[in-house]
Amino acid sequence: MTQYFVDLKDLAREKISFEGSFEPGMVDFASDNVRQVGLLDWSASADRAGGEIRIIGSLKVTLEQMCSRCLEPARCEISKPFDLFFRQRDQQMFDEDEVELSEEETRTGFFTGTRLAVGEILHEQILLALPMKALCRVDCKGLCPTCGTNLNSGDCKCPKEDFSPHMDTLLELKRRLEQRSS
Ligand SMILES: [Zn+2]
Ligand SMILES: [Zn+2]
Repeated sequence: MTQYFVDLKDLAREKISFEGSFEPGMVDFASDNVRQVGLLDWSASADRAGGEIRIIGSLKVTLEQMCSRCLEPARCEISKPFDLFFRQRDQQMFDEDEVELSEEETRTGFFTGTRLAVGEILHEQILLALPMKALCRVDCKGLCPTCGTNLNSGDCKCPKEDFSPHMDTLLELKRRLEQRSS
């Protein structure tokens, strides 16, 4: 996968704005159990803030995860602003146009030389915005733990007590209380 960079070498003189629409695959979600659906739209601007670089932007994307209850695909629309600061290792980094910098001098997590790794930033921001437990719908009934039937598409024949251990505990408690009082 080719990394997408925005060059910030003109930042010394002015604020820089940039934007894009990334096809699925430009940001790699392969190891995140997430699939990008449609375009990832984003825009951002870079500005200097003291010794730091401030990146303000927003992104919008639809992702598909596995529903934590029924294991079917669960779509989730993410629309997220971000406001990030990056420390410059080299104070001279953006002060002169013609300064040649080696990669080692200025490499930080999201920078290579004067180039900002936008894909990395979007990737991190999206992961931060993902719900901990994805749901295909708010009232997803999940799977029957006995027979595996997806209860969203119909009931199964399993006894109700079997798939509610919490209710079992309450009934057991009630039984004991009744025994004690009799
Ligand atoms: Zn579900
Ligand atoms: Zn069942």
